[in-house]
Amino acid sequence: MADCLFCRIVAGDIPSQQVSETARVLAFRDINPQAPTHVLVIPKDHYPDLAALATDPGLLAEVASVADQIAQAEGLAGHGYRVVFNTGLEAGQTVFHAHAHVLGGRPMAWPPG
Ligand code: 5GP
Ligand code: ZN
Repeated sequence: MADCLFCRIVAGDIPSQQVSETARVLAFRDINPQAPTHVLVIPKDHYPDLAALATDPGLLAEVASVADQIAQAEGLAGHGYRVVFNTGLEAGQTVFHAHAHVLGGRPMAWPPG
């Protein structure tokens, strides 16, 4: 989708600080990090949100697996980390291309704001 920010990142039209990549998944650092580690994991194909991504369980599992691999690589595994899919406006979703936030490197409160 030409007007989608994350599709443009996948296409290389917008630069990103890439962390890892598979054939179907891309991970890059969030431009406005909310924790020492804040990486976004996205399907390369356009799915607007988690509900749409969940129609392809294999791809959703790959996104989750890459999220865990990043947490391991960033040294978060022994400390804990958080994976978040903001889904819908009221939940704070601002980019409507499905993405998992991988957050870690500091203590985290619950419930989230
Ligand atoms: P959401 O609010 O939809 O859950 O998350 C969107 C995330 O995308 C935000 O955390 C925001 O900082 C990040 N973001 C927005 N624009 C860009 C960009 O151009 N590059 C990168 N790397 N992250 C972005
Ligand atoms: Zn997109």
